[in-house]
Amino acid sequence: MGNLRHMPLSEELDSSPRRDTAGTFESTDPATGAVVGVFPVHDTDAVRAIVARTRPAAEHWAALGFAERGLRLAAYRGHLARRIDELADLVHRENGKPHDDAVLEITLAVDHLAWAAAHARKTLGLRRVRPGLLAANQAAYLEYQPLGVVGVIGPWNYPVFTPMGSIAYALAAGNAGVFKPSEFTPAVGAWLADAWRTAVPDVADAFGLVTGSGETGAALCRAGVDKLAFTGSAATGRKVMATCAETLTPVLMELGGKDAMIVDDDADVAAADAAVWGGMSNAGQTCIGIERVYATSAVYDRFVTEVTSRVADLRPGSDPQAAYGPMTMAGQADVVRRHLDDAVAAGGSVATGGTVDGGVIAPTVLLDVPEDSAAVREETFGPTLTITRVADAEEALRRANDSTMGLGGSVFSGSPARAMSLARRMRSGMTAINSVLSFASVPALPFGGVGESGFGRIHGEDGLREFARAKAITRLRFALPVNPMSFTRPAGAVDALARITRLRHGRRR
Ligand code: NDP
Repeated sequence: MGNLRHMPLSEELDSSPRRDTAGTFESTDPATGAVVGVFPVHDTDAVRAIVARTRPAAEHWAALGFAERGLRLAAYRGHLARRIDELADLVHRENGKPHDDAVLEITLAVDHLAWAAAHARKTLGLRRVRPGLLAANQAAYLEYQPLGVVGVIGPWNYPVFTPMGSIAYALAAGNAGVFKPSEFTPAVGAWLADAWRTAVPDVADAFGLVTGSGETGAALCRAGVDKLAFTGSAATGRKVMATCAETLTPVLMELGGKDAMIVDDDADVAAADAAVWGGMSNAGQTCIGIERVYATSAVYDRFVTEVTSRVADLRPGSDPQAAYGPMTMAGQADVVRRHLDDAVAAGGSVATGGTVDGGVIAPTVLLDVPEDSAAVREETFGPTLTITRVADAEEALRRANDSTMGLGGSVFSGSPARAMSLARRMRSGMTAINSVLSFASVPALPFGGVGESGFGRIHGEDGLREFARAKAITRLRFALPVNPMSFTRPAGAVDALARITRLRHGRRR
């Protein structure tokens, strides 16, 4: 990593990236304040230049076709797989999450890369479709062509898995990409882009990188990219959409969540274990993390006891044994503190945790929090759970669905049929039955939200098509004796068509 300059430990424990006036900024270890790397702040001109350099690479990459691209994507995947520990170490230092969680994130990303490459041709490649009765003399073809250059703006919480959900599928669909990582995790972004250049030098420019703050992201929106894949908060998503509207650049929006878990009467103790992992892992900084639990009266007391006893065993820190790390972004601790204070002021109680010590937040379980509190309505993005008693699973579903957001969610029930019915009616893009977050690890399943959680999909066939445009082609196989789409058509030709239509469809009531 030639572009990473390691510097002496800083005395400051503020994890905010610090900028200097020379057009560079530092990213720091949220646990120690140590500088992880120094990166350029790419301004509008620099971003445009990088996108312009990527354009010929996009043409070359598209022209290679599925098989040749597949070979290069496999080389990239192999390169990442052989360096999981190196990358995980960097993720640990820059994002703060435990090394093992970083490994988990990277293995999932590699798996998606493999799936996207393996399924691109079948999903997107040229195929014939039935022309239908009225166009029986035509051969009809459909393919999904690459868009060109896709801009990818990513967050810091899963700095490998999340952007790779867009980058891998965009590349597999035949596009080049220009990635703008969060200013809190530029070293991880630079590592991923450098790894591409090393693994596939003949198409090195197909994966470009720009670094900087929000202004660099806005510059990428304006730089003439063919689509902008954004992952981040709804607030920033609105700004990104507005900026992209200036140039009619299409957008994919993967935004925040306030995911709920429904715990039904007959759920077993696995629900408690899953709630704790879903709520606390990665310090709760997970877009599809569980933030609200609705447990039926039949299981509530047992569930709360089980959750609080499991939470008691969790210890945040930055050593290898820690359950989760400090908050990546110092400012996020203020959001969590506000939600905790508000919940308690509104009559909620703290079953366990509730302390915020700098960037380290104790695992926290809140009970009896009113439904109109910030801790229930807004994304907390911290190691917290609210647990609310409900009469039955139908009430749990009503409350789960009473949110402006709808990203993921979870249902725990002993009855597969009941669980499936609840999952299908949950207003979210993804739901896990008797587990949490598991849909993210199934490459064939599309990932994305509804409402203020965004629109569009990464992963799966939908994720490949998200980065392609449909191209429809017809080829005349033989001329009809009477062509209704000609000025030479005889009188009565259209009447004959109408008669056929009445015969085929007119009897339906
Ligand atoms: P932000 O919305 O703050 O930032 C996301 C990205 O947008 C960053 O790279 C940021 O740059 C950039 N950005 C900021 N301002 C602008 C702008 N005006 N124009 C263009 N780009 C801009 O989100 P976070 O990084 O804090 O990530 C956390 C959020 O992401 C949570 O809400 C979480 O739920 C969501 N998320 C959603 C996922 C999903 O798949 N649905 C997955 C993971 C996270 P910079 O950091 O340099 O300011």
